[in-house]
Amino acid sequence: MSLVITLLGTGDATSVPAPLCNCEYCIDSDRRRHPSVLIETDDVRLLLDAGPDLQEQLHEIGVRSADGVFLTHKHGDHTAGLPALYQTAKWDSDHLASIQELQPTPEGFDPGFAIFATPKAYDALTTRYGPWDERLTYRSIEGGETVEINGIDVSAVPIDHHRPDCHTLGFVVDDGDKRICYAPDMRRWHADPPENVDVLICERAAILGQPVHGPRDELLSAVESVNAERTVLVNVNEHVQQAHTDELQQRASQEGYELGTDFKTYEV
Ligand SMILES: [Zn+2]
Ligand SMILES: [Zn+2]
Repeated sequence: MSLVITLLGTGDATSVPAPLCNCEYCIDSDRRRHPSVLIETDDVRLLLDAGPDLQEQLHEIGVRSADGVFLTHKHGDHTAGLPALYQTAKWDSDHLASIQELQPTPEGFDPGFAIFATPKAYDALTTRYGPWDERLTYRSIEGGETVEINGIDVSAVPIDHHRPDCHTLGFVVDDGDKRICYAPDMRRWHADPPENVDVLICERAAILGQPVHGPRDELLSAVESVNAERTVLVNVNEHVQQAHTDELQQRASQEGYELGTDFKTYEV
């Protein structure tokens, strides 16, 4: 069994090209969608973050089901795909096909996945997007907790996002052999760094010269403390960095890291 990672979105809150921007960096750069990662084995498919590009990201690679959805934090670039998930559950195609008049999917419908987030993120999301759709199951997860989905462990790691009001998690996905850690929007670990990580997919900002989420030395030491076999930088933004992709690639390589691109896959 292997774990397959697909980077669905390697941009950040602005994404690339930034809307209504004609700067040279937006014009020249390949597109970077909002943050999201898919992790799959033969038996499980997990979606980490569900931003505003979710529909397009899943459609692009033909993914039509998931076994679990995990949200790192409340910010819109990581969660704005939720209203569309609500609508999909509300108008489930099996139920639409079975009725003459338009009726929403009955309560108790099982879409095949639960959505995991911290209680604080859940509260913020229900305030922002309205009540959680009763057809979708919300499950609480806090830093230090592990849930098991079809034989795969997902552990939540508490993260300092550099935003005091934003309770944030990273996730370690463990198939019993390999371990992948996803940690976007990070200043540093709140507690001990995750151990024995094969692939770390993490925040790039300060490393590439833009301390959006805190100082460079703190992020570098947080990343180094993981000592992952392979580190892939995401949350990349040519527009914000005012740098072309080649230059960012070079800066990442100098530190010994890789620069993520949308829909790139990694098999571990
Ligand atoms: Zn621009
Ligand atoms: Zn954020």
